[in-house]
Amino acid sequence: MTPYIDVFKIGPAALWIYQLPAGTDIQLVIDKGERYFVDNETLNKDDFAFAPHFMIYSKTKISSGEGVMERLRIRLNEILGENRARIDEDMREHTSFKAGGRADFYLTPQNIEELISVIRALNAAGTAFFILGNGTNVLVRDGGYRGAVIRIGPDFDGGAALQMTGAGGTRIITASAGMSLAAVAKKVAESGFSGLEALSGIPGNVGGALYMNAGAYGVEIADIVEKVAIYDINNDNIVTVNSSDMEFAYRESVFKRNPWVILSAVLRLRKGDRTAILRATEEYARERNRKQPMEFPSAGSFFKRPAGAYAGKLIEDAGLKGLTVGGARVSEKHAGFIVNIGGATAADILALAGEVKRRVSERDGFDLEPEPRIIGEN
Ligand SMILES: Cc1cc2nc3c(=O)[nH]c(=O)nc-3n(C[C@H](O)[C@H](O)[C@H](O)COP(=O)(O)OP(=O)(O)OC[C@H]3O[C@@H](n4cnc5c(N)ncnc54)[C@H](O)[C@@H]3O)c2cc1C
Repeated sequence: MTPYIDVFKIGPAALWIYQLPAGTDIQLVIDKGERYFVDNETLNKDDFAFAPHFMIYSKTKISSGEGVMERLRIRLNEILGENRARIDEDMREHTSFKAGGRADFYLTPQNIEELISVIRALNAAGTAFFILGNGTNVLVRDGGYRGAVIRIGPDFDGGAALQMTGAGGTRIITASAGMSLAAVAKKVAESGFSGLEALSGIPGNVGGALYMNAGAYGVEIADIVEKVAIYDINNDNIVTVNSSDMEFAYRESVFKRNPWVILSAVLRLRKGDRTAILRATEEYARERNRKQPMEFPSAGSFFKRPAGAYAGKLIEDAGLKGLTVGGARVSEKHAGFIVNIGGATAADILALAGEVKRRVSERDGFDLEPEPRIIGEN
């Protein structure tokens, strides 16, 4: 068989694969674009300028066909099917900011077996990956994410659809990580159990809420979680973590510090008056709509609360409401929110956040830290 050199170009529209017979004048291909993956090594157009033949022949494995990325794509298709193993996915579709770049792969496993097979395949190919919940606290930089985004969403069973057990005054609920907090809260409230009312308006999933230790109106998910099932990527096994080991603090948890995928959670709730619980849930939702700019895409409060102050108040006091960079603006309604008023890029959002941070630091000496996870390349 004729040996081939595999050259991969990750472009904005698709993953193209060039299979070139050895000896092809590589300059012809280089002229078509700026960046290429050559057997997993990223080379820039400029890299080739000096000695194109040397670069290609020294960095490229001469193989008899498909290269690393193509083999990975085929393997992921085998595990998930083409529809759930997508390439070159626009992450604006999957993040609440509606801004940012594309991911090389976007994968939606539906059960633990698929999740584990996908992670093993990515590890074998040396490809980075990121676990996404509902994308309400993630910003992907405009250059996109080089690797795979694995979505743990409502279709993921996590080994547990919503189950309720127990009798008397308490109920134990097992919910899979991909369920939305809102859906769990609704079900629980309708059954007359209390504990999730204040958290019901947080637009994330159970997994994302645990990772971030999400909270609102004085309640955090930490207050009601008993145990969590995780897949430990390094040890390739499923383990249960007890609440006493979750190291919860303000927007902090043990899940942030370990290579784990949250699969499901056991929550503890108390019996209450169904009507009062439903009324409280509605009241929290009204309060949110009244105070927060729900009409624009955002990731919620952009900055964490610094010790001894409120980020929103510091930003408002610095006169920064309405400050705008491109399509990104400090909300007029709630200064803690950076909103996408239309067509914001991740660069707009980050430039605005940088300016806010600088001005608040100059004025009040507080060092504001972003709350969302920021991933990908510029
Ligand atoms: C309008 C609006 C209002 C908001 N209000 C609040 C609020 O009141 N309180 C609050 O705390 N937050 C709030 N947020 C922020 C956000 O909703 C929370 O942080 C939420 O918990 C994120 O959940 P998610 O599923 O969207 O996670 P994502 O944004 O998808 O991910 C967040 C992090 O969790 C990790 N992660 C997600 N799922 C898993 C999993 N299964 N296993 C391992 N890691 C995982 C991701 O890798 C990422 O690092 C708000 C956001 C918006 C847009």
